[in-house]
Amino acid sequence: LKLTILGTGSATPSLIRHPSAQILSHENSIYLIDCGEGTQLQLLKHGIKISKLKYIFISHLHGDHYFGLIGLISSLNLARRRESLTVFGPKGLDEILTIQLKYSDTQLHFKLDFVSIDTNTTNSILETSTLKVTTIPLKHRIPCSGFLFETKRAVRNIIKSKIPIGISHLEIIQLKNGEDVYFSDGKIKYKMKQMTFIKHDIQKYAYCSDTIYDEKIIEQIRNVDLLYHEATFKNDLVERAHTTYHSTAEQAAIIAQKAEVTKLLIGHFSSRYHDLSENLQEALPFFNNTEIALEGNEYEI
Ligand SMILES: [Zn+2]
Ligand SMILES: [Zn+2]
Repeated sequence: LKLTILGTGSATPSLIRHPSAQILSHENSIYLIDCGEGTQLQLLKHGIKISKLKYIFISHLHGDHYFGLIGLISSLNLARRRESLTVFGPKGLDEILTIQLKYSDTQLHFKLDFVSIDTNTTNSILETSTLKVTTIPLKHRIPCSGFLFETKRAVRNIIKSKIPIGISHLEIIQLKNGEDVYFSDGKIKYKMKQMTFIKHDIQKYAYCSDTIYDEKIIEQIRNVDLLYHEATFKNDLVERAHTTYHSTAEQAAIIAQKAEVTKLLIGHFSSRYHDLSENLQEALPFFNNTEIALEGNEYEI
C-alpha cells in the first residue's frame, strides 16, 4: 500500500501548493482521494498512469476537493477510456457532473457510476478481494466524510518450533513461497503445509480532511498505520480554525496521539504559510512521528 501526495493546499490558491488530491496504490490498482483543481496535471507530472484508476473518493463539495474532477473525466474520455469508473461522493455531485457533461454535449465512452455517501454515519462503501473502504463521518461546514482504507495480505510464515537444524536460507524462502522442498533424488525433504501457517497482514490508512477538532473519529481510526489529518492553521489562529470548522497542527497531533496511530501526515495548509517548519514544531510535542505531507512524495504504508 503506497500513498502519493498530489496536493496539500487549502481553498485559497497558492503558487507553492496544489489543492487536495492523493493517490493510493495497491496491487496494480490506484485509488484517487479528492480531486482539487489541476489534479490531472499533477498526475501527469508525477507519472501516474490514470488508465489504472477505477475508483475516486470525494470527501465533500468545497471546490478545493473536487474542482478537478470534470477535467479529469473529460481527459479520460479524450483518451478513449472504455472501463467503467466509480465516483463516491456526497449527494449533489452526480447532479453537478451530469449538468457539466450535458451542456458541453459530452458523450462518455465509458460507464460513469456515482455512489452517494451518507456523511453522517460510518458505512462500508467498497470491498474488493484485497481492499475495504469505510467512510469516516467528519464535522465540517458542509457534509463531509473521511475514508478508512484497509488492505489484507496473506503472508505465509514459518512455524519457528519446526525449523530443523541445517535448513538453508533458500529452503526457507521456498517454504514461505508455498512450495515443498525436495532432495535432489526427488524425495520430499520439507512439507510446506507442516512447517508454515498463513497470517493476515492488515494495513490501514485513514484520510481525514476537512474537519474541526473532533474526538468522535478516534475510535474508528485507532491504531491505523498512517493518518492524514488536515492542519489548516497554526495555534495563532485556533479561533479561526474553530469558526471555519478546520483544525490546527497541534489538534491533528492530539488526535493522532489519542488514536495511537503509527504515523501522522499533516496537510491542507492555509496559503498564508510558506515555510511549514513552525506548523510541524507545534505538532511534534503531542505526536512525535509527525511529518509535513509533501507533494510528489511517496509514503509506504
Ligand atoms: Zn478544503
Ligand atoms: Zn472544506
